[in-house]
Amino acid sequence: MRAIRTISELREALDRPRREGRSLGLVPTMGSFHEGHLSIMRRARSECDEVVVSLFVNPAQFNDKSDLAGYPRDERRDAVLAQAEGVDYLFVPPEREMYPSGFATTVSVAGVTETLEGAHRGRGHFDGVATVVTKLLNIVSPHVAYFGGKDAQQAVVIERLARDLDIPVRIEVCPTIREPDGLALSSRNVLLGADERAQATALHRALLATASAVRAGEHEAASAKEAGLTELAAAGLHVDYYELVSTPTMEPVSRIDGDVMALVAARVGGVRLIDNERISPAPNTHHARRS
Ligand code: AMP
Repeated sequence: MRAIRTISELREALDRPRREGRSLGLVPTMGSFHEGHLSIMRRARSECDEVVVSLFVNPAQFNDKSDLAGYPRDERRDAVLAQAEGVDYLFVPPEREMYPSGFATTVSVAGVTETLEGAHRGRGHFDGVATVVTKLLNIVSPHVAYFGGKDAQQAVVIERLARDLDIPVRIEVCPTIREPDGLALSSRNVLLGADERAQATALHRALLATASAVRAGEHEAASAKEAGLTELAAAGLHVDYYELVSTPTMEPVSRIDGDVMALVAARVGGVRLIDNERISPAPNTHHARRS
């Protein structure tokens, strides 16, 4: 595996495999790898001839400066883990390489960015994500770019921008990897104290409670959400949002008539965590509640 820090060196390295018709896969990350990241790398490794992993803690997508300062970083460990997964290139650009002086362009996706994470972290968050992902897609020109389903709204934003800007790439969204107790893996989990780690399991429990209510025939979003909110309140979490939305618009629904997604963002101590669950109602919900 080669660690590369400049755009020109990466382009040069990819030139030959591209000319030879080899397929290129890109896995954008902010590092501090866990099994979620590694599962995406494995998927890219199994589908592409050359795998590029980018590791860049993108300042532009952090609305909170202390969140950026405290974001876990361990490049040396990440390099060992990526190499073990058979990654070919680890792209680790310094900030000035991605945002040189005079940088003045923002990619901004409307609509889907206005709810949930966009509403709570501000439009700047998804502007930062959209801008850096557009740059990475332009730098690498991969055939396939891989993202995780844990950041469900982010995946929708990226699919939208690739389509709208005619970027010739296939976007693949990979399943969320969880701890045995259901907590979605996140680089931020290392910031949780022991008690907070236990509290954090309520996010997934809440989503499952809402999912079982829907599968048992509940059509009212408010009631289905209430089942999850009870779990979050019992665990003492500060909820940023708990929503049932239709995909891919990410617009909240009040009545559940088809597939929906439940999404949560909550703060445990000083750590903000997100999670989601896709939910299909039972095929015939009229007889679901038997006495
Ligand atoms: P990050 O380093 O947090 O920006 O994440 C890099 C990629 O890994 C993103 O596409 C995330 O959605 C994805 N990812 C993060 N956590 C998980 C997880 N638990 N399971 C699957 N993918 C994940």
